[in-house]
Formats: sequence, structure tokens, C-alpha cells
Amino acid sequence: MTYDVIVVGARVAGSSTAMLLARAGLHVLVLDQARFPSDTLSTHQLQVPGVARLARWGLLEKLLATGVPATGRVRFENGGVVIEGAYPPHDGVETMLSPRRTVLDALLVDAAREAGAEVREATTVEGLVFDGGRVTGVRCRSKDSASTMTERGTLVVGADGRHSTVAGMVGAAEYNARPSRSMAFYTYWQGLPVDGGEMYAFDNRVASAWPTNDGLVMTYVAWPAAEFAAFRQDPAANLLTTLDRAGTLGERARNAVSVAPTRGTNDLPNVFRKPFGPGWVLVGDAGLTMDPITGLGMGHGLRDAELASRAIIAGLGPQARLDAEMARYARQRDKQTKAIYDFTVSLASLNPATAAERALFAAIAARPRDTTTFFGTINGSVPMRRLFSPGKLIGLVGVRGFMQLARSRPR
Ligand SMILES: Cc1cc2nc3c(=O)[nH]c(=O)nc-3n(C[C@H](O)[C@H](O)[C@H](O)COP(=O)(O)OP(=O)(O)OC[C@H]3O[C@@H](n4cnc5c(N)ncnc54)[C@H](O)[C@@H]3O)c2cc1C
Repeated sequence: MTYDVIVVGARVAGSSTAMLLARAGLHVLVLDQARFPSDTLSTHQLQVPGVARLARWGLLEKLLATGVPATGRVRFENGGVVIEGAYPPHDGVETMLSPRRTVLDALLVDAAREAGAEVREATTVEGLVFDGGRVTGVRCRSKDSASTMTERGTLVVGADGRHSTVAGMVGAAEYNARPSRSMAFYTYWQGLPVDGGEMYAFDNRVASAWPTNDGLVMTYVAWPAAEFAAFRQDPAANLLTTLDRAGTLGERARNAVSVAPTRGTNDLPNVFRKPFGPGWVLVGDAGLTMDPITGLGMGHGLRDAELASRAIIAGLGPQARLDAEMARYARQRDKQTKAIYDFTVSLASLNPATAAERALFAAIAARPRDTTTFFGTINGSVPMRRLFSPGKLIGLVGVRGFMQLARSRPR
């Protein structure tokens, strides 16, 4: 039997792609080496545009029913300047969510199954099948069986994460790559009071707190990648002493109960990969990975699922049409990501805010409309140029402030 599409990886990007394709009537197989519910390294903030996609797909109510709190208020403190406010509405949604990956990924796997996709868990893709240079299937092995199976598909979608096996086997070209700049560590607390999301940047550290399922609060810290060995000597203590520098967050954490080990990684590459070729497509981290400091990877995975599935549905048929649709998917993805990718890589360098940047934050904090726009730019719902164009910046900090900002920019 030949499937229309075989998807490798069943988390945010893979299950969403499979669900959208199956809803359009395509015959879809999804393979993942994990068994769901399954956790993965992720601080799991799903920004407003991602939540809006779930709403559009009819999945938001189910997700909210798991008890994940909706977060509409946010506080950002950088170099002593505090910006506090709300997210701008995006497609009718004004809140972000921080669902545990055990919850969100399992919900998406169920949605793919309900749409008619065949999902095989505990099944690892070990190789691709090529026919005259075109990918025509996968070789996979179930954890319950010793033998390898071959499955055929018109297209194979790699949704298998930042170290994508599919991308490696097809030799997907990389561009705009930047090495890991920061490390990300996090843990969970019971009884840590928060009123929305909190983000802090000071010296060359970042800390944040977000409410999640089961009444818990997740706290995240970022340090420069160069300090990995020092951080690893005592992750829990280093996380807590970083929270101590973040307003009253450390004090609240010290009065709460730590309910999980501190986990994290310094394996945080930034890279674009060409997301299509003969018989193959990449979505999510497999095609575009960036530092989690802006918390946008999951939302990008959902966006890619939408763009790529649209392209596949429109393009299945004559080869020339598929190529044109895939090229359009790649262009849309890159256009929508380039500015926030550069911003993310710059933030991940963890340079302390300059005096000119602190003046800009103070100007933004003083105007509620700009505060809302600011939170929209950092959650990916408002284009960066809306706030960071020369004209807008001059309006905020004056010509001299703009010149100082321009000089302090290369970070
Ligand atoms: C520390 C950390 C914190 C983060 N915090 C955030 C955050 O707050 N907000 C946010 O939006 N993003 C965050 N991210 C990024 C986010 O986790 C990713 O962008 C997102 O998980 C990508 O989803 P995906 O579906 O593309 O890939 P993944 O979630 O990586 O899923 C890939 C799947 O493919 C499967 N797979 C891999 N290889 C094979 C194979 N050969 N055969 C079968 N299955 C295979 C894996 O088992 C896995 O289930 C964070 C990342 C890290 C590392």
C-alpha cells in the first residue's frame, strides 16, 4: 500500500501536519519513536499565534479543559526597567498558554488519529527509500519487533526535531546557521504565586516564570553557553540563585515546593534548512530551529504544519505544481521568520541592555499602546518593524536616542 504522506515525528509539527492532511482526505501514516503521553525538553510556552491556530483547528477548548491556565498579563523587566501589560489580540485570541508537553503533544496525536491518520508509536525511522533520487518511503522498526518494515509514500514529511534524521538523510541544505549561544534550564514549583507571565533580564542572565498544568509554575533560566560547566556543577542551586536576582521571584520560589529536577541543555542551535526536495518536506524544528529564549519553536511548528499541509494539498498531482507550492511554503516560512530569528539570536547572546536600550524600554513602558505592541512583537503576532522601524524608534526616544541605539545595536 502507498500512503499519500508519511510523517516522521508526532509532536507539535508532525501531528498537526498529519491532522490537517487527514482532514483534507489524504491517506496519512505518522511514525514516532516515543509512546504518548511523552515529555520532551521544552519550557512549553505557546505564544498567542499558536493558541489562535489551535482555536482555528477546534482544539483550544480541549486543551483548556486540561486545566492549563490562560495567561494574558505579562511583566518584562530588563536592566531595572519594568514593562507591564497585556498581549494584543491575534485572530480573536489574547492569551498564551504553557501546557505541559505530556498534555499538548498527546492531544495533537489524538487529533491526528481522530482525523483519520494512522499513528504508530514506539516506531523508529531508520532509513529512507529512494527511487531515482526521489524519496518514496521509509524503513522503520517497531520497538516491539526485531524486523524492519518498509512503508511507501508519495511524500515523506520530516517532523523529527532539531537533529532531524530525515533532513540528514536527504542532505537538506542549511543556511543562516548560528551556533548555540545560551543554555536553558527549568523546573516546576507548587505554591509559587504568579499573576501572569514574568520575564527578567539582568547582567548576562535571563529568568522567567509561567503558570502551567496541575497548579504548577515553571521557572526557566538562561546563562551564556560558555558557562555551561559552571552551571552544571549544581543546576538546582544555580537556577535558584538566578531567580533571586529576578524581582521577588527567588523569594517566592524559596517559599514554594520544588516538585521536579532541574533539567536543560546547551544544545540550542539556530539554523534554517531548505524545507523541501524530491519526495520530502521538513516542518517544525527539523526545518527551522532557534534558541528557545523567545519561546517560539512550538508556534513555528504549528505554523509550518498549516503552511506545508496547504502546499501539499494544493500541490499533490503534477510534479511542477508540487514544486511551485513547496517553494511558496519555503518563502512564506522564511519571510515570516527572518526578523524574529535575528532578534532571537541577538537576545540569546545575553548581552546586558545598554543605556540606549534601557531608555527605549522606559519609553515603551510609559505608553500603554506601545507596551501592547512590544508584547506582540516578542510573541510573534506583530511584525518587528511595527516597533523597531527608524521612524517609530525616533518617535519613542528622539533622534539622539535613535543614534545611540543604532551604535549600541551590533551585539
Ligand atoms: C530547553 C528548551 C526549551 C524550549 N522552550 C520552548 C518554549 O517555551 N516555547 C516554544 O514554543 N518552544 C520551546 N522550545 C522549542 C520547542 O520544544 C520545539 O520548537 C518544538 O518541540 C519543535 O516541535 P517539533 O514537532 O518540530 O519537534 P520535536 O518536538 O522535537 O518532536 C520530534 C519528534 O520526532 C521524533 N523522532 C525523532 N527522530 C525520529 C525517528 N528517527 N523516528 C521516529 N521518530 C523520531 C521524536 O521522538 C519526537 O517525538 C524549547 C526547546 C528546548 C530545547
